[in-house]
Amino acid sequence: MNDDYFYQTDDIPPIDIEQMRDLLAHPPKWCGEEGCPMDEHRKHCKCIKTIFVHETHYEHYLELVKRKVESAFVDLILKDNKKRSK
Ligand SMILES: [Zn+2]
Repeated sequence: MNDDYFYQTDDIPPIDIEQMRDLLAHPPKWCGEEGCPMDEHRKHCKCIKTIFVHETHYEHYLELVKRKVESAFVDLILKDNKKRSK
């Protein structure tokens, strides 16, 4: 596993949108329950490194998951309000 490439900032590879969509549709399994643990150097564990080419890709993915969860939550509230106004 090329750690240097995962963490370098000189040549960040472009994010693969298709891969992000795939991952959102089929979330990968992490070793931990709430994402992978980091070691004392704040390095990501190897299940993240096998999926993502670069650190920023993983951060982007987390952001997408967050937005997905938030929008699902908003949908739920809207549905609930509709029921009540009946
Ligand atoms: Zn892990």
